[in-house]
This record gives sequence, C-alpha cells and structure tokens, in this order.
Amino acid sequence: MKVLVLNCGSSSLKYQLINMEDESVLAKGLCERIGIEGSQLKHEPEGKDKVVFTDYMEDHDVAVKMVMDALVDPNHGVVVSVKEIDAIGHRVVHGGEEFASSVVITDAVKAALEKCSELAPLHNPANLIGIAACEKLMPGVPQIGVFDTAFHQTMPERAYLYALPYEYYEKYKIRRYGFHGTSHRFVSEEAAKMLDRPYDQTKTITCHLGNGGSVCAVRNGKSIDTTMGFTPLEGLVMGTRAGDVDAAAITYLMQKENLTAQEMDNILNKKSGVLGISGVSSDFRDIEAASDDGNERAGAALDVFAYKVAKRIGAYAAAMNGVDAIVFTAGLGENSASTRTVICNYLGYLGIHLDSYHNSLRGKAVEISAPDSRVRVLVIPTNEELVIARDTKELLDK
Ligand code: AMP
Repeated sequence: MKVLVLNCGSSSLKYQLINMEDESVLAKGLCERIGIEGSQLKHEPEGKDKVVFTDYMEDHDVAVKMVMDALVDPNHGVVVSVKEIDAIGHRVVHGGEEFASSVVITDAVKAALEKCSELAPLHNPANLIGIAACEKLMPGVPQIGVFDTAFHQTMPERAYLYALPYEYYEKYKIRRYGFHGTSHRFVSEEAAKMLDRPYDQTKTITCHLGNGGSVCAVRNGKSIDTTMGFTPLEGLVMGTRAGDVDAAAITYLMQKENLTAQEMDNILNKKSGVLGISGVSSDFRDIEAASDDGNERAGAALDVFAYKVAKRIGAYAAAMNGVDAIVFTAGLGENSASTRTVICNYLGYLGIHLDSYHNSLRGKAVEISAPDSRVRVLVIPTNEELVIARDTKELLDK
C-alpha cells in the first residue's frame, strides 16, 4: 500500500509518499508561495536527484496537480501512475471536540471540519481546500484526516477548562485543546518501546521544542495535560509566540498603544517569544550564537525559554504523581544539546543526570540520561508523517 501524506497550509503544501510495506519514504517535497508570485515545488525523490519546479501555482488544485505530475515524472517520479496511490492522509490542525481519533473523510466529516474552522481560521480552511483538491484530482481515492488536537481529547475537565464564565465554553467552545498531538503520541509510544515497558503503564513527559513548542503529560498512553490551549499560542515561550502572559497585560497594552484585536494578535503570535525578548531572531541557532557573543538579551531569551520548559516538566511530574521518562523532540529538542542541558539542570530534584557523550549525539533516537539518573531522558526524532500514514493504513485495513 502507498499512502500520500499531505500537510496543506494557507500558501504551502508539504507531502510525502510512503510505501507502507516497509514504511520507506518514496518521495517528499514542499510547494511554497501558492497563489503568490515566485511559487515553487521542491521535490525530493528517493534515490534520484532533487528538483525544483518553478511554474506558477495559482491555487491548491494546481499545487496538488503539480505534486501528482512530479510523482509520475519520467525523470523525477517514483511511481508509474497516480493509480498506485491507495489513499491520502491529511494533517488537519483542529478537530475540536468532535474528533478524538483519525477518521475517513466523508461529507459529514467535512461539514464538522467547516465548523472547527472557526477555532483555527488560519489552518483548517487550508486543510479543507487540500481535501477538495484531492477529491477533484483523485476521485474515489480514500482520504483520511489526522488531527493535531485528537490525542489531547483524553485530557480531563480539570485540565481543559479555563476559569472563564462557563457560558463561553458552552457558547463558543472556549477551552484548552492542545496541539502537536501526533508528535506527542509518536514519541511517547517510541519512548515506551525504548524503555521496554508497556505503553499503557508508562508515565512520560514529552517536550516538542521546535519553532512552536509544547510539553505534554502522557500517563499510561493518554494525554492528561499539555501546554498549548485554545490555540497554539498558550504555554511555552516559542520562536515568535509569547506563550503564557497575564491576560490583563494584554488588555492594558491594547489600551496604551491603541491596538486592535488583530494587531494585538499579530504581536502575540509573530513578534513575541524569543524573537521578542532577544530582538535577534526567532531561530534558536541565531540566538545561541548571539548569546555566545555576549548579547545579554539573547541570553535572557534562552533563560526564560528553558526555565519555562523546566517548570512545566516539574508541574507534570506532580500531575502524574511521578514520571518514568522525559523525551525531547522537534528541531530544537532533537538538535540542541545545550538547551537540553540547561533544562535538565533545573531537574536535579527529580534525580536527573545527563550523560554528556550521549547528549552530544545527533540524528537518532538515543537515551541521554546517565545510568544513575532516577528518571530516564530520551531524544527521539519525531515523525508526524509516519503517524498519519500509519493511521491512514489502519483505517483502510478496517
Ligand atoms: P521545527 O519547528 O521542529 O522545524 O524546529 C525549527 C527550530 O529548531 C528552528 O527554528 C531552530 O530554532 C531549531 N533548531 C534546529 N536545529 C538546531 C540546532 N542545531 N541548534 C539549535 N536550534 C536548532
């Protein structure tokens, strides 16, 4: 079985074609600037040269068509015909309270997703456009939706309710949903395997630290709490997102600077985080370099970031009444030994000690805690596409 995994953004489309016989990636790529001048498709077929197509992509229909053409291209393709593609798995950002697991996309599911679009106006409409484009170009091929929020639907009420008037939860579904669920699920499952323990008897704290970041408490295979909330803005300090801020500071700032809701939203999502504190960059590599050169604000940004991750790990160890393993994943979590060290230095009371040699390794799943560490610490490269492909296969097999 071959599964095409699609991740549609408002002007981008990421894809992977995965052979489910051995879970190998046959090709992957990225369409950028869809509907904007300078569109391009970067296509990476396995075992062949990478190629960039620069034809203008007016909309997602055109982008999906170009991806199909690239996949069957005589020089750069990896299949003879698109008929070899058995199913399409879509990453869908918001499933609201409707979807606690992946689903086969039907008209009823699409209608429910339209409703969830209000909760994720930047993401869900793009996901729906991608689904429609595939229906048009590959009629009859089953499509599956895999949600960022689904894994966190097991959170208990005490973790997901905000202390706002209850009517707003009832009227507008304002509650905590959590995101990066596919990643937290994947790495927590992998962690249980590495620990050689049953998934449903393991307490893991997973730290997805990339451009966006979240920490999740996974108790016996279920998410019981996570740092992102109603939107992916809540929680940790991120590349450009503020994370937790006293809501009163927001309304105060809006009054002082005469800001509209949209302008404030833009500041919180695009101009804050480590970029906002450091004034250097949203990329942790640039900030680490600036801090090494003596830039104090860059140093402060890294400190605030790491301190907050450590506080959440401590909080979730309390919430689960213990923790077997802490997992680091995503761009920063997988690659920055210094960030992992700073975070773990706060966690001495949990009996955590790192092994500096293993902490310096890159690019593979590895245990980085020392043998005498009471809690084991792991680095596990995330693979959201593989989870989407596996869910797609599983639903089709059923
Ligand atoms: P992601 O969103 O998972 O792709 O992660 C992207 C982020 O990971 C980038 O913005 C970088 O800040 C961070 N990152 C990637 N590689 C490194 C590295 N070697 N050292 C520090 N940060 C890194």
